[in-house]
Amino acid sequence: MNIEAVVSPRGMLLPRAGTAIARNVKGDEDMPKILVVEDEDALSVMLRYNLEAEGYAVETVANGDEADLRLRETTPDLVLLDWMLPGLSGIEICRRLRGRAETERLPIIMMTARGEETERIRGLATGADDYVVKPFSVPELMARVRAILRRAKPETVTTQLRAGDIELDRETHRVRRGGRELHLGPTEYRLLEFLMKTPGRVYSREQLLDGVWGRDVYVDERTVDVHVGRLRKAINRAKDKDPIRTVRGAGYAFDEKFQLKQAG
Ligand code: CA
Repeated sequence: MNIEAVVSPRGMLLPRAGTAIARNVKGDEDMPKILVVEDEDALSVMLRYNLEAEGYAVETVANGDEADLRLRETTPDLVLLDWMLPGLSGIEICRRLRGRAETERLPIIMMTARGEETERIRGLATGADDYVVKPFSVPELMARVRAILRRAKPETVTTQLRAGDIELDRETHRVRRGGRELHLGPTEYRLLEFLMKTPGRVYSREQLLDGVWGRDVYVDERTVDVHVGRLRKAINRAKDKDPIRTVRGAGYAFDEKFQLKQAG
């Protein structure tokens, strides 16, 4: 499926027909598999889009009974499980997964709506590894997914991003260029990490605000330009090629040709 992101009124990244998402370089078999069980269409689509951009293989199911069946046929590496579902409830699915030897230790993140606070506690008691309360921040959820997968299946999580002579370690937050350590501010680091994950993909300022700053933060779009300027200053020395592309009228991208230019 070819999709491109647009920002929903709620400020989340949503896909739209158009351009392809850059895939992780690893083959599909190596990608961690995530099952999303969510009956709210818009949320399900948004989760799929963001998880695929992180390099996961994603399957979505919108009904509790269907999820139960699917989980008997195949075991993913992680389940994102909504609480309130048509058919079996999230909590019942969680209880069943914990009751079977094959899925006893399967990582589960529950998604609950506000006002289900006491239910959250029940969710954890039933054996979920973590929970998020809707509406949640996408970068925050992605960080939790990564943290849980790293604990459960360390070999499946990519911690090093590499392009040309730039290396970014997502575990230690260290960035090097040509072996030289770069000192980035926290925002510049997140911006570089965000852009490097999908080389070639152009993000609007609004999408960068959502993906890097988070959707609950209200800052002016000009802020993005300021931080891109700081990022460039921190990573480029006099004769270095600039890996960040400014796309007029659209936004910014990590130049997918950067790797080739460096090699040549
Ligand atoms: Ca629901």
